[in-house]
Amino acid sequence: MGFEGTTLLGGDVLNVANRVRWTEAEGPGARYALWVQGCPLRCPGCCNPHMLEDREERLQGWEEVADDILTSPGIEGVTFIGGEPFWQADALAKVAGRVREAGLSVMIFTGQTIERLKRAEREDYDALLEQTDLLIDGPFVQKLLVNDRRWIGSSNQRVHFLTDRYAHMKDERGAWKAGANTIELRMVGGEVTINGFPDESIVALSAASIRVKKAAGE
Ligand code: SF4
Repeated sequence: MGFEGTTLLGGDVLNVANRVRWTEAEGPGARYALWVQGCPLRCPGCCNPHMLEDREERLQGWEEVADDILTSPGIEGVTFIGGEPFWQADALAKVAGRVREAGLSVMIFTGQTIERLKRAEREDYDALLEQTDLLIDGPFVQKLLVNDRRWIGSSNQRVHFLTDRYAHMKDERGAWKAGANTIELRMVGGEVTINGFPDESIVALSAASIRVKKAAGE
């Protein structure tokens, strides 16, 4: 499957896989994290394989999503992750524009390189890049797995400071590596959910808990 697709939702609707309204495991400070459903890539070892299929999860208008972010207390920004945020670039650019007007920052994880996104010369990609402070680009590559880059899974993935908002963090070795890679575990409806970049043992723990839940017929 090529990348140049998009979920066929139009520019006003988002297909949301998950959200956490307050997390310290998906970027600088406390953030709202929004996972979108659907990604054309199939990176071996992807820690969100259930978010890859282009199927309908929770459809929400971009204004509703923006309002939810803006009424979430104690956050300094939002992180878009997935799934592939640039597959829903049009609607996400609108959300990002609204929340940045209110002073929040925007961070995005994409499986594409920034060069490829720019080369595509697509208005929706450009609009989303214009509203992005911090971009982590490139697919997760299992053989390049690293555990000492905070928030980031493999060594090929790059950090792009698209505005000065996080200029003080440009020294990744100092500002980023100072904090170890972070994960958070939550119990939601009897199921363990994990965010951050978990290592394989933690993913196995989560999978085991889901199996227990299913075996219990919940
Ligand atoms: S680009 Fe990201 S979400 Fe898509 S398959 Fe790769 S690791 Fe998973």
